[in-house]
Parts: sequence; structure tokens; C-alpha cells
Amino acid sequence: MKFNELHLTEEILRAVEDMGFTEATEIQEKSIPLIHSGADIIGKSNTGTGKTAAFGIPAIESISREKNGVEVLILCPTRELAMQACGEIKKFSRYMNWVKPCAVYGGASMERQILDLKHGANLVVGTPGRVMDHMRRRTIKLQNLKMIILDEADEMLNMGFREDIESILNDIPEERQTILFSATMPPAILAITNQYQKMPELIKIDQKYRTVDTIEQYYFEVPSGMKTETMQYLLMAYEPKASMIFCNTKKMVDELTEALTAKGFKAAGLHGDMKQSQRSFVMDKFKSGKINILIATDVAARGIDVSGVDVVFNYDLPQDNEYYIHRIGRTGRAGKSGTAYTLISNRKQVYDLRALSKYIKTEIREKELPERSEIVNAMMLKVVSKITAAFEQPLREEAEIILSILSKEGYSAEEIAGILINLRLNKELKNIPEFEIPKVSKKEKVKSQGAKLTKDKAVKIEISSGKLSRIAPNFILGALVEATGMPGRSFGKIEIFERYSTVEVPDTDAEFIVDALNNTKINGKKVSVKLCERKTPDKNGSYRHGGSGGNGRRNERSGRKGRQGGHRRRK
Ligand code: ADP
Ligand code: MG
Repeated sequence: MKFNELHLTEEILRAVEDMGFTEATEIQEKSIPLIHSGADIIGKSNTGTGKTAAFGIPAIESISREKNGVEVLILCPTRELAMQACGEIKKFSRYMNWVKPCAVYGGASMERQILDLKHGANLVVGTPGRVMDHMRRRTIKLQNLKMIILDEADEMLNMGFREDIESILNDIPEERQTILFSATMPPAILAITNQYQKMPELIKIDQKYRTVDTIEQYYFEVPSGMKTETMQYLLMAYEPKASMIFCNTKKMVDELTEALTAKGFKAAGLHGDMKQSQRSFVMDKFKSGKINILIATDVAARGIDVSGVDVVFNYDLPQDNEYYIHRIGRTGRAGKSGTAYTLISNRKQVYDLRALSKYIKTEIREKELPERSEIVNAMMLKVVSKITAAFEQPLREEAEIILSILSKEGYSAEEIAGILINLRLNKELKNIPEFEIPKVSKKEKVKSQGAKLTKDKAVKIEISSGKLSRIAPNFILGALVEATGMPGRSFGKIEIFERYSTVEVPDTDAEFIVDALNNTKINGKKVSVKLCERKTPDKNGSYRHGGSGGNGRRNERSGRKGRQGGHRRRK
């Protein structure tokens, strides 16, 4: 649906057009008429679906020309989101000079905000904590409030704002419109809804993976000690105009930022331990293009919307599938295309990534790292094009220098040019990390937590080496720990038979363990490894194999005659 079919005021339509929007998104199409009608609303939709305009436009239109104090209050979980929403609302209201938006959030000057509030702010966007502060100091007056909007309500609850939100809701006039947006609907949200909304209309948008469809997704398998070099390598090879790199910890954000800036990249970090002023500083530099690499944690980057991010890197595989969607949604915004690359550093993560791929119903393809020679070639081309461009400017003093070298030293013009190009190129080449990415070896695998083995979650794997190969349980355990990186306590009973052995392993990791151990050597002999049938504990808590007798017989049945089970071994 086009915006001009939504019965918007002429001023808003002009502003929307200025912003380059033509088609309303689904949530906008559904919310705007309902909010116009005065209904309370519960909107369930994911990030990137255009919620700010969905509530922002009707909120702006509801503001009267009288000086009534604050008429609309919008609560957001973080300072960044409050600033962002306020910025967007300013754009929508640019032709309505009686609308005075004001953002209030922690970590910024109280005085400045008080001044704005005094000068007739009638639409306030803020974080719950800071809004409460202003209410306590009576620097914000909400007795004429007509509409309250809770944006990303689930996230606000996660951040511990429940009490603040409830006391705000208790303190504002009862005759008001209450609008709530949330990506998920946990019981705590429903409780708020029940208590503070009047016959709310539910709007649910099921375009769960909308943003993900337009994004090309790849992964690289990289040894875990080489992720930083790989990052550097990828940045040089792909030269993204603007990229975001996600790490799982603040510490990693700091370390990676330091490593990349030391190599001359225009990068900066963003995480929750930074002061508000630092964070705003970083965001401004990123938005203006002064830095083009933003390294962030999930929480700090949540909902941040910067246009023109063409690549998202997952330096660490996210701990949660939803995070992955949020992360890569930072690129491919508003119908543009984008690419997401994920670094994987062990077999366990390959399995996790497969599960993720299933969850988002999109293929994440493996990609080979670009060859070093490709990077070198690209650099040569750049140097050549710079030289060609430089011919536009006439030579002055340079011409004299060249002439003097030519006459005194007896070099040819080609030689001089060649040497200069080399000097220039060498400077650039120094930055390419000196490494060939080795294929990830089975040995370097996982650093999984390694679930402690519990009886009901165990399965057996079979290893093609037994007494005849002089194998002992501690050899097997050692090999398992080494191949998987999992702690010894993850493995259960080890039984050695004549020609093979079995080990109890956690069900959840079984496939991975088989893959990790297969074709490795134990006591000098290469082994093949496979999964035994899954089995179920009987009521005594001990195991029996589904329908079959013991190990030995089952193996004979599956055509492995000649292999004898330990329980039948001869003296
Ligand atoms: P959400 O709050 O659901 O995550 P936002 O309101 O931040 O989404 O919008 C995401 C991006 O899409 C913003 O850059 C916004 O300007 C843009 N956008 C929103 N609505 C439209 C539209 N109808 N057409 C084009 N772009 C839009
Ligand atoms: Mg939003």
C-alpha cells in the first residue's frame, strides 16, 4: 500500500516523500489506521520492519497546536534507540513546526534536557530510567499525556525497566492511548498488556525473516588462533564501504579494535562499558563515514540503523539464533543488498551453524578465503589507477628531480618509475597478514563446554580398534579429549573388545564426536568411528539396545562377521 492511501496529513506525506519512502511496510499499513482510530495496540514484529514510522507518524499527527505540555511519550530500551527514534521523528515532523520532539536518556546532560522540556517539548522519546528521573524532579509534566508508546517492550523488561515502566504507566492520565511493540510476547508483557491497556488490538507480522532473504550469507572455516588475521585479510580483500563486526564479548571488541586500528583500518568499538559520550562520538563518526568499520557487541548494536552498511561480519558465532538475525539485519536495510560473513573456528561450530541455517530457513554457504595474489592484484590496480589519475596534475619540482636522477645516475625513466611503484606497493603489501590459512585439522577442533554425561542422554560410538591393537581405555579417552576439545568427564563407559571398542558419549554431541575422531590415530593405528544404534534405558536405568541383543551379535548381524564381541572372548 502506498503512503498516500493511508489518509495522512499533507505535511507528513511531504516528509515521507523527502525520505524516499513510497510503499508502506506491512506493520505501518496495519498500525497507522488503528492508531488513528484511537485504539490501544499490541504490535508483534521483528526489527527492521519499520516500526518507528508505524507509531511515529500517527503519534506526530496526534499532537495538537495548543501548548499542552507533553502529549506523546515514547519509551525505548537504550539511549541509541531513543536518539535514533527521535531523529526519525524529527524528519517526519519537519513541516510541522508545532511538533517539538525531545530525546531524554541517561549519560547525557540533565540541564540540556530540562531546557528542551521547558521550551515546549510535546513529544518525548526516552529511556524509562531517565524519564523517571525527570518525573521525580518534576521537570517533565505528563498530566496532559494522550499517548504512550512502549517500543521494544520485551527488551526493556530484559534490561530491568519493569518497575520504572509500571510506575510511569501508573502516573499518567488514565484517559490515554497505550501502544506496545515487542518482538516476543513473554508472560511479563502480557501482564502489562492486561493491566494497562484497554481492549488492545493485536497486530502480528509474520515476516519473521524478511531482512535475511535479501542478504547473501557465507561462512569461512578458520583456525581459532587466526581469526584476527583473517578479519584483516577479509577487510583488505573485500574492501567494504561500511561494515559492522560482531563479537560476543566486550573484551573481544576492545582487542579486535586495537588490532585493526594498529594495522591502519578506520575502525572503532562500541559496547556497554563505554560512556555515553564515547558511544555517541563513535556512532557519529561511523554515520559520517570517518570510520567505516564498527566493532560491536550484540547489546550495544541492537536496533542500530545505519544506512549503507554493505557487509556484516560475525567474528564470533552468535550465542543465540535470534542474535544472528539481528546482526545481519544491519545490512541489506530498506531493500538494499548486503552480505554477511561468519567465521567458524571448529567442527562444533559447523554443526551449530547448520542448526542456525535450518532455523532461519536460509542456506549459509561455505566460502574459500580469497588468495593472497588476488589481494595483491587488486592493490596493483589501485596503485596504477592512482598514478593514471595523478597525470592530471602537471609536474613541477618533480620534473627537475627526475631529470637530475636521469642525468647523474644514469637510470632509465622506466627504472625510476618501477622503483617508485615498488616502494609504494611494498608499503601496502606489508599490511597483508603473512599467513597461509591451513586447513583446519581435526586436532584443533572444539572448545565445547562438553556437557557432563548423564545416563538418559548417552549414546554409544564404536571405534574400530580393540584388544588386538593393544588399545587401552586411557588411550581412547586421551584421543577423544584431543580430537574434540571436550573434557574427559563428557565421556562415559569405555569398553574394549577384541577388535573394536565402544564409548558412551553425550547424545547431543555424538555426531560431532564421531566426525572429530574418525580417521585419527589411536596408539599409532588409524581408526574409523561410527555411531551405534540409539538405545533407551529400561526401568532399572540400565541400557538395552533397541530390539537387539548385545553389541557383538548386532555387529555380526550388520554383516561384520569375524568381529567378536568382548563378552564372547575366549580365554
Ligand atoms: P524497526 O524499528 O522495526 O527495527 P525501523 O523503524 O528502524 O525498523 O526501520 C528500519 C529502516 O527501514 C529504517 O532505515 C527506516 O528508515 C526504513 N524504513 C521504514 N519504513 C520504510 C518504508 N516504508 N520504505 C522504505 N524504508 C523504510
Ligand atoms: Mg525500532
